Amino acid sequence: MSQLRRTKIVATIGPASESPEMLYKMIGAGVNVVRLNFSHGTPEEHQQRAENVRAAAKAHNVTVGILADMQGPKIRCGKFKKGKTFLEPGQKFILDAALPLEDGDDERVGLTYKELLHDVEPGARLLLNDGLLVMDVDHIHGNEIHCTVIVGGILSNNKGVNRAGGGLSAAALTEKDKEDIKTACAIGVDYIAISFPRDGRDMEYARALVQAEGSNAGLVAKVERAEAVLDENLRAIMKASDAVMVARGDLGVEIGDAAVPPVQKRMLRMAPKYNCPVIVATQMMESMCENPIPTRAEVNDCANAVLDGADAVMLSGESAAGKYPVKAVEAMHRTCLETERHHIHPSTQTRDPDSPPHSIDACIAQQAMEVANYMDIKAIAAFTQTGNTTLYMSRHLGDVPIYAVTNEQSTLGRVTLFRNVIPLCMPANYGPQDAPQATLDVKQRMLDDGIAGEDDFIIMTFGTPMGMSGGTNAMKIIRVGGDI
Ligand code: PGA
Ligand code: MN
Repeated sequence: MSQLRRTKIVATIGPASESPEMLYKMIGAGVNVVRLNFSHGTPEEHQQRAENVRAAAKAHNVTVGILADMQGPKIRCGKFKKGKTFLEPGQKFILDAALPLEDGDDERVGLTYKELLHDVEPGARLLLNDGLLVMDVDHIHGNEIHCTVIVGGILSNNKGVNRAGGGLSAAALTEKDKEDIKTACAIGVDYIAISFPRDGRDMEYARALVQAEGSNAGLVAKVERAEAVLDENLRAIMKASDAVMVARGDLGVEIGDAAVPPVQKRMLRMAPKYNCPVIVATQMMESMCENPIPTRAEVNDCANAVLDGADAVMLSGESAAGKYPVKAVEAMHRTCLETERHHIHPSTQTRDPDSPPHSIDACIAQQAMEVANYMDIKAIAAFTQTGNTTLYMSRHLGDVPIYAVTNEQSTLGRVTLFRNVIPLCMPANYGPQDAPQATLDVKQRMLDDGIAGEDDFIIMTFGTPMGMSGGTNAMKIIRVGGDI
């Protein structure tokens, strides 16, 4: 059932969903990529989770991608001796960089990021607990940031601290992230998400760390910081990343909730030019943490992400810790499917005269999509080593399913995130002259899997000679039951 859906579903796993039985159900309901949150757990636990995901995927005979999400420089307050404090509007409160992290009380609390002292000045506005609490900085005194509470409420252990408008100097990669990147590479994840990158350089730095581990995991930039959405930085981030995430939680705190929708639209408009897949994330089905059905507004939000061309929609707390993880996947699945059914994009709508395909394989990809949209084509079978041809194809909106045909495990994992691309493992290792054999094999596979019938036409793209990376230079239109 999940193969008919073009938009991909990323689901964060956690206490509510990480058992082998639940993973089996979640994948059965249509999860394409599982997100492991590295803010919680040990390397051994992450390894175990990844193994459980792979076992559940295997039981369904599908490829499920694994995305390891780094914690990043998320600033948090320390703990309270009594677990929490109640803040009244107008009262004074101190964020104390020198206070031990366990020692918070009604007057002050510690900080995980000592440099916050140097990043704020009198008048700066701080948002705590995803913006539920607001305080303004009065003055800095030694290690203490003296504030006045503007919007009060309960402040409990380890809540996030953001500065409105951004401008914190914290580097995107913390020491913990660097260790976690090693763990993620050792596990062999398909994607690593970097939290709070400021610009392209943060992503390049992360890339160097990943490559030093001998891994070719894709890098996802979580766009969640005010600096990152400046046009120039966003462009550089898209160039330097394999995908971007509209991380609406922290982003909304930094730039204000009302500024998030235009940024999401802008990112979705910009991304095809950089061949950059987009994940729309956070609070997509939030009410399903508690309820078995989503609100109409949530369904609308999800549908609009699909209409705007998102590659993937993501579940966070809904699937990690909510009451209805499987139902949340089902709600996304039916929303995406129904939206896609009523909105077919011809590829010509998305062709950008300012950025023609830059390489032979990108040209073949574009032409395949063009033909697929005006001929009655059942499927595209793209023989690919790296998955790049299918990435280019999926940047052109169209309704014909694109099969990424490969025996490369890492490529099968990589394409799980691409809109309308389905991983198809063909174990054969073709030599330079094997295109005729590959044609016969793929036709047989289309029949065996029920993807196309004898009278259906498919498009096959490949490279001659076969078996070379980045070598797609040919396209064939074939009748599945025909002679060649
Ligand atoms: P997080 O990132 O869930 O890791 O904070 C997503 C977001 O900020 O929206
Ligand atoms: Mn975040």
